[in-house]
Amino acid sequence: MNFSDTQIVGSIMTDHNFETTGNIAEADLIFVNTCSIRDNAEKRVRARLQEFKRYKKQKPGLIIGVLGCMAERLKEQLISEEKMVDVIVGPDAYRDLPRLLNVAEGGQKAINVILSADETYADINPVRLDSNGVSAFISIMRGCENFCSYCVVPYTRGRERSRDPLTIVKEAGELFSEGYREVTLLGQNVNSYKWDDGTGFSKLLERVAMVNPLLRVRFATSHPKDLTDELLHTMAAYPNICRSIHLPVQSGSDRILKLMNRKYDSSWYRQRIEAIRKILPGCAISTDIITGFCSETDQDHRDTLDMMNWVAYDYAFMFKYSERPDTLAHKKYKDDVPEEVKSVRLQEIINLQQELSFRSNHADIGKTFEVLAESVSRKSGKELSGRNSQNKVVVFPKKDYKPGDFINVKVNACTPATLKGEVI
Ligand code: SAH
Ligand code: SF4
Repeated sequence: MNFSDTQIVGSIMTDHNFETTGNIAEADLIFVNTCSIRDNAEKRVRARLQEFKRYKKQKPGLIIGVLGCMAERLKEQLISEEKMVDVIVGPDAYRDLPRLLNVAEGGQKAINVILSADETYADINPVRLDSNGVSAFISIMRGCENFCSYCVVPYTRGRERSRDPLTIVKEAGELFSEGYREVTLLGQNVNSYKWDDGTGFSKLLERVAMVNPLLRVRFATSHPKDLTDELLHTMAAYPNICRSIHLPVQSGSDRILKLMNRKYDSSWYRQRIEAIRKILPGCAISTDIITGFCSETDQDHRDTLDMMNWVAYDYAFMFKYSERPDTLAHKKYKDDVPEEVKSVRLQEIINLQQELSFRSNHADIGKTFEVLAESVSRKSGKELSGRNSQNKVVVFPKKDYKPGDFINVKVNACTPATLKGEVI
């Protein structure tokens, strides 16, 4: 999401005659787009800001701006704590950047952290910074109102709002004509996408899939409580909608899910997985897991491991619980699982996932997949790297193929992270 927002900021700045540079010492302006999801993310931003101090010494007129969730969460406080910062801009205020820069150039600190009920940047054509020219993100909604008790997003990104479907379909069409072959529709909870004319997420997905059969469509993220059979049937009807669903479970324990305010229990989640297996055979399933949430016991932890084993996830993002100021969990519960216990549990979860990922990849040996080539492999210039519909990375001999081509590859080897194969 931040990557996509950075491209929107890139577009606003380009319209005001700025250009990007790969050489930081040359920059007149440095923006850091920030994330507040875990304390670690914020610590990394603060360390980065320290690095910028020396560029400011070398170039006194240099302007440093903090964008995104940390700007929204900390507001003026960030300027008093990090003196090198000149501009603070929340996620809904990027259109105001040119004015804020004028203020900063006049020597004053500039802040806009006003959240909006309707800003979607729908009319802004993102500048595809750092693009591979093959796959791109399309932001379809902003904000979140689910208020999972551990999560800072509803406070930093504000009200949930959807973007006009016409502008989304138009963006997908333009990307296709520019040579892109895959788009990922982005939102904190894409299943609650809703436009005024009644278009919901399934309908939107279908409209994007119809842009061209050669345009692959992915989406992230869907909340288990809203994963409908209608969506699964839409996916089944269009081969270019990728067979891959990211469905964050967070915990396998009903007690913890309730404390997390996730609005589903483990049996609901299992029943959603069964629906995926039935309607979309061969669909990959990935997840997010938080370990060490307030009051989590060994039994709760075992419930999570059981869930992982039962689903046999293809891939997972796994985190230690990090208490975020002013969230419901911070106000209501104690962050009482000791750090060492969190670490041990996280390691167990990571080890299990490694095994599951390896098993899942191993089961693909001998199968043939259509792979969208994305880039020449970093390790040897003789291989191409791409992904199959299930979102697994596949490496194969380059021959005369190039990024953007669809190629049938028969898998003959694997690691826990990648499949290797031959073109057939
Ligand atoms: N909207 C998406 C997730 C966005 S945040 C969804 O609900 O699925 C991405 C992931 O970060 C979450 O799924 C969760 O696993 C993790 N996360 C969020 N807040 C966290 C916290 N306070 N501590 C640790 N992990 C957290
Ligand atoms: Fe955070 Fe929950 Fe919203 Fe995801 S759904 S962004 S975890 S509050």
